[in-house]
Amino acid sequence: MTRVAFIGLGNMGGGMAANQAKAGREVMAFDLSAAALDKATGAGCAQAVSVAEAVSNADAIITMLPAGPHVRQVYAEQILPNAPKTALLIDSSTIDVESARAVATQAKAAGFRFADAPVSGGTAAADAGTLAFMVGCDEADFAAVEDVIAPMSRVTMRAGDHGAGQAAKICNNMVLGISMIGVCEAFALAEKLGLEGERFFEIASKSSGQCWSLTSYCPFPGPVPTAPSNRNYEGGFATAMMLKDLKLAQEAAAKAGAATPLGSTAEGLYALFDRLGGGSKDFSAILEMLRGNAPQPN
Ligand code: NAD
Repeated sequence: MTRVAFIGLGNMGGGMAANQAKAGREVMAFDLSAAALDKATGAGCAQAVSVAEAVSNADAIITMLPAGPHVRQVYAEQILPNAPKTALLIDSSTIDVESARAVATQAKAAGFRFADAPVSGGTAAADAGTLAFMVGCDEADFAAVEDVIAPMSRVTMRAGDHGAGQAAKICNNMVLGISMIGVCEAFALAEKLGLEGERFFEIASKSSGQCWSLTSYCPFPGPVPTAPSNRNYEGGFATAMMLKDLKLAQEAAAKAGAATPLGSTAEGLYALFDRLGGGSKDFSAILEMLRGNAPQPN
């Protein structure tokens, strides 16, 4: 049986660890939060008292932590000194490309295999085991990474070498952030021009304005019943999370010398919406700000 150490059992990691246990793997889980650890135990994982204990006998180690500094610290101070060299290391947190490459370099220098494998899909997909994984790793390691990830995944794609998974994630989410604002501006303009939202949806979804933000995640309530716009923009992908990813994209663009003027504008607009109180709302709620309305409380 594969022994999996799972570090970071929050909104995403909790469901992902549970799916590892459901697949019959022996999961040793650790989180700084006692409540998160208790939930994981209820879902079939064993509790470790520290990262060191969780990883000490693992075949694979998965981390799902908030940001780059947490990942750097946990790998340097706890995982690399305590894990068996045979363990496959997989970080699924969304972090900056530079941190992902730095951790990969340290891990390889210490004799480990490492993959950055951020995810797309949110908490519902984490619970259902239907996340999309974007992987940066040595080509020779991909099959083993895919096998470890399988119980949590709908699709697993290799983006390239170390850091490429994180690059794919932030570039994808920059497209998403920009396209959502474009769709919201169009709905706000249509309204001012006396064009009904439902009619605009019907026409644009069959014309060249068609895109995922319009037809799968419509910010205007009604046309797409599963979209968060029909639930007062609750659940879904929080504005604060989108803002984090757009910041990562802008930091990466500045370091790489890439021109991303629309990414920068999108970051500024989501930062404004966040400051107005929209941080916990789904990111499609930015439609309300573009209509000139304050965010509605959750
Ligand atoms: P979260 O804050 O709910 O969970 C993070 C967990 O890490 C917390 O339970 C925290 O206690 C734990 N933690 C922090 N430092 C630790 C340490 N040193 N040792 C052990 N545990 C530690 O966050 P989340 O929503 O689960 O997101 C995790 C990652 O996934 C983030 O990088 C996020 O950007 C990314 N992500 C989130 C979503 C989403 O919809 N929530 C979607 C895609 C990607």
